[in-house]
Amino acid sequence: MSLAEQLDTVTASTAGTVDRHATAQTFESTNPATGAVVGVFPVHDADAVAETVATARQAAGTWAALGYDGRRTRLAAFRGYLARRIHELADLVHRENGKTHADAILEITLAIDHLAWAGNHARTVLGPRRVSSGMLAANHASYLEYRPLGVVGVIGPWNYPVFTPMGSIAYALAAGNAVVFKPSEHTPAIGAWLAAAWRAAVPDAADAFQVVTGFGETGAALCGAGVGKLAFTGSAPTGRKVMAACAETLTPVLMELGGKDAMIVDDDADVAAAADAAVWGAMSNAGQTCIGIERVYATSAVYDRFVAEVTAKARDLRPGSDDDAAYGPMTMASQTDVVRRHLDDAVETGGRVLVGGTVDGRYVSPTVIVDAPETSAAVCEETFGPTITITRVRDAEEALERTNANPHGLAGSVYSNSKAKAMELARRMKSGMTSINSVLTFASVPALPFGGVGESGFGRIHGEDGLKEFTRAKAITRKRFSLPVDLMSFGRPAQATDALARVMGMVHGRHR
Ligand code: NAD
Repeated sequence: MSLAEQLDTVTASTAGTVDRHATAQTFESTNPATGAVVGVFPVHDADAVAETVATARQAAGTWAALGYDGRRTRLAAFRGYLARRIHELADLVHRENGKTHADAILEITLAIDHLAWAGNHARTVLGPRRVSSGMLAANHASYLEYRPLGVVGVIGPWNYPVFTPMGSIAYALAAGNAVVFKPSEHTPAIGAWLAAAWRAAVPDAADAFQVVTGFGETGAALCGAGVGKLAFTGSAPTGRKVMAACAETLTPVLMELGGKDAMIVDDDADVAAAADAAVWGAMSNAGQTCIGIERVYATSAVYDRFVAEVTAKARDLRPGSDDDAAYGPMTMASQTDVVRRHLDDAVETGGRVLVGGTVDGRYVSPTVIVDAPETSAAVCEETFGPTITITRVRDAEEALERTNANPHGLAGSVYSNSKAKAMELARRMKSGMTSINSVLTFASVPALPFGGVGESGFGRIHGEDGLKEFTRAKAITRKRFSLPVDLMSFGRPAQATDALARVMGMVHGRHR
């Protein structure tokens, strides 16, 4: 049976993106809600990965040669294709990842919007420009441009199987690179669907975006395949392995790792709005969101009201696999063990479970925990489940101190009705992104960079920084006319450097 038939969402003419190698070993991806097989995929070995990267390298030349306009129109065709088939892709995401159809639509919408921004802004951000030559090279013209790296390898997770990898794929393509994408072994069908969609939408540059499937070994092979950069999104332990593998070939890396994002609810916050956002930020997508709210620090002035609002809202949520469910099953069976360990540890160390706290097969009930100590796993490690801890703090300063004490630093949220205070707290939050009076909003602003600090990684996708991330800066000078004295020549007169020293004294010497 061909991949197209197994997937039933990929048309025959576009299949072949992942099964053209003579790879004998295969693996199944399954629906986390029902266990039904979604698709069967090759386990690509190092040879297959090397072959794919070689094909991509050839395509990279053609893709780069299309220029900004050529790429913009083709990226637009890709987003048009995705937008026209948004329900088909959302259905596949629902079946393979488990999230609700509605959440899948939201996710794909974000990815499409980023694709549009990346394609439309690449020239302005990366294109050639003149820069000032300064005093010492005044007789030269100076040029700056950002050149593609060739082939970018992208290794993705399963929790946002469209939006997250597309944050690298869209920006890398817009910057003029070809891409080889290794989706998570839990969501290979979505990766294959995206590559098939690309082939269908952009047939004259079909090999500029290809997919390889498999487990960690396939990802490791991509790290060693000589790509120009490796963009990794996943857990910190795997990130360390990826960095070590990439070090062998001096392949630069981008690390988008896990988070333990906090919400700070200050004295003057709109408590009902903060509670509503906290519940959604913590529990949508079954809490499997790298930038999800995992812990809340509420000041004494608002704590009781906030806890009451959150518990009331959380009680109303029902996990399930139907259209009316608030969120779906855990995508990975093993993640329920992590959630259970965090719950047990929270209770053993003095925490109280006000809502939920049960795990039924793949479904974790909406869970609200209070009084868990800062050292408990539920407060300091990434839980990645529909759970939230709420901690009473004296004031926003204490909340910020506790927020920043965690080694992660991906994102966070501040609720306050004082613009100045909220902005100041957001600036001082040790994270790559912060939303004030909302959660996760920065991810929907294509012009804003996305990425973490500390254990949450480094490098940026999205926005201008995200485009530059997949390029190398190229500096060029061009002599416009000769000066009577050429300082960079053995033929310069002996007194020339003395004159230069005098000029330096006049221009800079007065600064103390
Ligand atoms: P993971 O680290 O288990 O796997 C990520 C990817 O790495 C998978 O494709 C996997 O096959 C591959 N991989 C495994 N071993 C490898 C190796 N030795 N060499 C190369 N590749 C290898 O992570 P996951 O469970 O898929 O994703 C969940 C994690 O991702 C969470 O920690 C979450 O917070 C994080 N995440 C971060 C962001 C972000 O933007 N910062 C976004 C989404 C998810």
